[in-house]
Amino acid sequence: MKHLQNIPLKNYCTYRIGGTARDIYFPESPEELVDIVRRHRAQRLPYWIHGGGANTLFPDNEILLPIISTSEMTATRFDGETVFAEAGKIMDAWVLECLREGLGGVECLSGIPGTLGGALFMNAGAYGHEISDQLQSVTILTRDSRVIELSKEECGFGYRKAEALREAVILSAVWSPPRSEPKALLAKRKEILAKRKEKQPLEFPSAGSVFKRPEGAYASQLIDQAGLKGARVGGAQVSEKHAGFIINVDDATCQDVLDLVELCRKTVRERFGYELELEQCLCPFCPDHK
Ligand SMILES: Cc1cc2nc3c(=O)[nH]c(=O)nc-3n(C[C@H](O)[C@H](O)[C@H](O)COP(=O)(O)OP(=O)(O)OC[C@H]3O[C@@H](n4cnc5c(N)ncnc54)[C@H](O)[C@@H]3O)c2cc1C
Repeated sequence: MKHLQNIPLKNYCTYRIGGTARDIYFPESPEELVDIVRRHRAQRLPYWIHGGGANTLFPDNEILLPIISTSEMTATRFDGETVFAEAGKIMDAWVLECLREGLGGVECLSGIPGTLGGALFMNAGAYGHEISDQLQSVTILTRDSRVIELSKEECGFGYRKAEALREAVILSAVWSPPRSEPKALLAKRKEILAKRKEKQPLEFPSAGSVFKRPEGAYASQLIDQAGLKGARVGGAQVSEKHAGFIINVDDATCQDVLDLVELCRKTVRERFGYELELEQCLCPFCPDHK
């Protein structure tokens, strides 16, 4: 298993923010991932499971917490009506492969960055569809270090969450997307990618929507109506194009992003009474990690 030391975390997240990681491990199979997690647990050592870093904010300082990356676990198998993939498979590459195979229902997920493991953990979605929609089962390492298979129903999926996966390590999953015409699916993908490019500030580093959608409102609209479009703390800015995104415009630090998050929360709370909940994951040791 590859093991790198003293690596800038900026290279491992879409925000392009973070100090150095003392250790990053790259298991190449679910078995190697289980093995390294069990070894850390046996010694009561904490660790951080890392997918694509498209929803993660790393701290600015050196982190001693070992990072276990799934990026080398990318096996995918099509078997008739089902598709199996390991957790580190890049979701957008998987979507494209499904569409080319004539497996539909996942085309609306086109363009979402990150891995399938991260997407399942977050129940990522867009345009009314979620990664859990076509899911059959997920294989996980449980909190007490057993490898088990959960059905879709057992995962407890909700809006940007999966209750039963919160403390699990996701190893692989199987989906059964419905058959459809590849040409039409690929045309839909093109449409979705164009929409994303038009609406999202893809020209700047970010980690997508910062806040979950509060009940009965849209976080981006509330932030916009609070006059915070373009608001800046250090190198972090509320995107002018999409107020739900915080972008890294000039070497932003983790603290810049967190201060801007707090400004948005406070202003929206005071103006409209909504409590904005963070969608993004703070790696432990981020300044205000609780
Ligand atoms: C430009 C942009 C656009 C985006 N648009 C969308 C969108 O439309 N919809 C949407 O839902 N999201 C969107 N996102 C956010 C992000 O793409 C998703 O949340 C994605 O699913 C994160 O996957 P990841 O592999 O990068 O996760 P990471 O950031 O690596 O990890 C996220 C969380 O999952 C955990 N995790 C990762 N892998 C595993 C595993 N194998 N087992 C257990 N835990 C694991 C991590 O520990 C962490 O807590 C966007 C992000 C960007 C940058």
